[in-house]
This record gives sequence, structure tokens and C-alpha cells, in this order.
Amino acid sequence: MNEICQLTIHELRRRVVEKELSACEVSRNFLDRIEEVDQHTRAFLAVEAEQLLKDAAQLDKEIASGRLKEGLLTGVPLAIKDTIVIQGVRTTCGSRILENYLPPYDATAIQRLKAQGALFLGKTNCDEFAMGSSTENSAYFPTSNPWDLEAVPGGSSGGSAAAVAAWEAPGALGSETGGSIRQPAAFCGVVGLKPTYGRVSRFGLVAFASSLDQLGPLARTVDDTALLLQALAGPDDRDSTCSVQPADDYLGGIDEDVKGLRVGLPTEWFGSGLDSQIEERLREAIQRLEGLGCEMVEVSLPHTEYAIAIYYIVAPAEASSNLARYDGVRYGHRSSHHEDLDTMFKYTRSEGFGAEVKRRIMVGTYVLSSGYYDAYFLKASKVRTLLKNDYLRAFEQVDLLFGPTTPSLPFKIGEKTSDPLQMYLSDVYTAPANLAGIPGLALPCGYSKEGLPISLQLQAPHFEEAKLLRLAHALEQELAVERPPLPFDVS
Ligand code: GLN
Repeated sequence: MNEICQLTIHELRRRVVEKELSACEVSRNFLDRIEEVDQHTRAFLAVEAEQLLKDAAQLDKEIASGRLKEGLLTGVPLAIKDTIVIQGVRTTCGSRILENYLPPYDATAIQRLKAQGALFLGKTNCDEFAMGSSTENSAYFPTSNPWDLEAVPGGSSGGSAAAVAAWEAPGALGSETGGSIRQPAAFCGVVGLKPTYGRVSRFGLVAFASSLDQLGPLARTVDDTALLLQALAGPDDRDSTCSVQPADDYLGGIDEDVKGLRVGLPTEWFGSGLDSQIEERLREAIQRLEGLGCEMVEVSLPHTEYAIAIYYIVAPAEASSNLARYDGVRYGHRSSHHEDLDTMFKYTRSEGFGAEVKRRIMVGTYVLSSGYYDAYFLKASKVRTLLKNDYLRAFEQVDLLFGPTTPSLPFKIGEKTSDPLQMYLSDVYTAPANLAGIPGLALPCGYSKEGLPISLQLQAPHFEEAKLLRLAHALEQELAVERPPLPFDVS
């Protein structure tokens, strides 16, 4: 097994900056690893080897000349979810409708990573327009869970999570609307962070549901996750919903003591429906937290039971509006057999979108239509406020919240495709944070008896990512989960 691919982002950067490794060597090692295992995981939609090696060579030249201003991510190649645009690199969002779309600009997140010296391995697979929890809704192919190739990696950022878990990338970007970073991170045994709404610019993140969308990092350690957030976070003039509040120092205090922190256990998160093996690991983690000097406090988030219902009204409503732009006029697929403008729109969208996207557009259009708007969209928006208020009240009593990331272990490919409602329930513990706008982090906390990853979740008040990362880091060190080798690495 390739030793370089097992290094952390921190360590890769250090070796490149101290000239122990060249950026080209690092990149080549990851490309080799992808070549070797992506046939199993199918995490990548496209690997950009040529551009990567060109950029790495350029970086090495600058390092050799001594003129390089060291960045937070110098020489580190990352995987990028295909919902985030990179100039000149095909961005499909896992959809046929964008099969040939070449973005003319970089997302702010990409610009920031570039400015810190990061390189890009390629674009990772995802559910079409990020709608899904298994990556099976990709118009191209499903991705496999590296721990069980017959299981899903979660979604929609399944490709990013699988790539990081399978050592194909040291870190990745994902995006979330209702759980799409945290849930695949959980299923693949990696760390995933959904920052506060507005903490990271959404400029260049293809819109799904604009009041919920947020992009964020996936990595194998909390430290690396903090490093990526440090590069990404901060105000951006090109996204008016991005907060003007400057980014905090996420790395500086990450080692600090967590003694005395009050950690809330929402009663609603530990009821029926939670897999017993997951619950068992969480109980162990709670003891560890107590051992670290945290005070565990029971709290209540009484509107939790409405979260999925609210989410599946608000998200499709916003999606139906955001996806109106794919009409065959400006970019993307255009149907070749149409008679007039109306049929051009109709055939283009019928051919270009998959079943789940069409379902969301129909639901979204329905809940926004006159006569139904008050009963559905407006009502959901009001209950959303109640849910957010639950959180605000809980955070008057505690610093952070602790619970599961997912109700179940990774399920098999095909197991839930015929039952959208079952699939939607994958997000019961994640979607509330998107609705409330608060940050959440998925942390690996062990493996099931079948060898599948188990994850716990921490949530924090708005813009408290530094505290969130600090507790996650302390717990990660305390749990010291031992990572078994991947099935395809055992020969
Ligand atoms: N699984 C959820 C959905 O299908 C969330 C997806 C996401 O966070 N992008 O909408």
C-alpha cells in the first residue's frame, strides 16, 4: 500500500514545503492509487491527470526558485465534488443535462484553495444535482462504499467520501443541503463538516436549495478538516448570503482543553429507529466525553419529528425554481428533435433530468403553486422557524450537541431505490442543522461487526466551528479508532 497516500494533508504539505517530496511526486502517487482502486470504488467522474501534473510541475518550479509564498495547502491534491465549478473543467452535477458544461470561472472555494497552493485530482461522483443519499441518482454510475463494494457510500457527496476513505485523495470538497457531506462521511468512515450557512461562499456551487446549501470539507482527521475550513471560510462579495464576519482561527485552539464544556444530548435523537450498534458506540463515546471532563446534559428539540417533512417541502420548492435555468437555451443539453420553443424546453428537460430530479421539480412546483402555497410552503417555513428556535433554546443550556449522524449503517446498492421515503429518512439527524443554519460535523467512532463505519455527530451554534472542531479533535484523540485495512487492500 502506497505510503504517501496515507499521509495527512498537514504532513503532505510539510513534506512539499520542506522539499522532502515534490508536488509532482505527491500527485503521481495519488494518480497511481486512483488507477489502482477507482475501478472498485468508482469515486471519480473525471480525473484531471494532465492538468494536475502541469500545475504540480509549475508549483515545483516555484518552490525550487525560492520565490514561493507558502500556502496552507501547498502541493496537496484534492478531490472536488462535481457540483462545484472549476474553470475549464467539465462540471456535470451528476446530470445528463450538464454533460458537456465547461464552466468559464472558478468557484470562490476553488479560488481560495488555489491561492493556498492546493492542486486538483478531479471531479467526484454525486447524486444528480445533489438530490439523494446514496450516489445512485448519478446519471453516470453508482459509486461503491470502499468498506463493502456492494453497499452505497452515502450521498450526495458519495464520490468525495469514498475517495477520501479509499486513500484516493487526502481531502475533498463536498456540498450539503440536507446531509450530503455528513451522511456519506459517516458511511465511509471519514470526517465531514457542514459549516454554518454563510460561513463559506456558495459562489460557483451549483444551486440546489439556496437557503440550505453550503459547501464544506471531508478529510480523514479533524485537524485536516480544520485546515481545509481555514482555507475556505470568510466573506465573499460575490455571494450576498455569505457572512461578513471574518473567519476564526480554527487550528490555533484545536488542542485546547474541553473540560467543562456542556454537551447536550437531544432526547429525540436517541429514540426508536436508531441502529443498535450505532447507539452502542455513541454510549461509549458519551463516557469518553465525561472522562474528558465534559458535562452531559439532556436537552429537547421538540420539533425534530417535523424536520424531514419541512425539508422535503422547502428543498424541492427552491430546487424547482433554481432548476428552471436548465432550459436548453444558455448552456447544457438541448434536445435535437423539437418543433418550436415550447417543445424544445419540454424535450430538453425530459431528456436531461433523471427521475428523482423530476420528482423534486414536480413536488416543488406543487407546494409553491397558488392555492397550495399557504398550506405547504408557508406552513413549512413557519415550522422551520420553530425548529430553529428549538436549537436556540438548547444552546442557551449547552455549548454543543451530540448524537448520531445516520440512523442506519450503510445499506446495499439498490436496497432503497424503489422507496424514496425510506431514502429520505437517511437525513433525519442531519437535515435539521441545514434548516436551522448551524454547523455539524460527522466523526468516525468505530466499526460495526460487519466491518462498516459508524459515525457520531456534533453540532454547534451558528459560527462556532472553532469550538465544534475543538471538541471533535479531543474526542477523536480519546477514541483513537483503529482503521482496519480496506477489503481490496487485503490481498
Ligand atoms: N439526501 C438529501 C436529499 O436528497 C440531502 C441532499 C443534500 O444534502 N444535497 O435532498
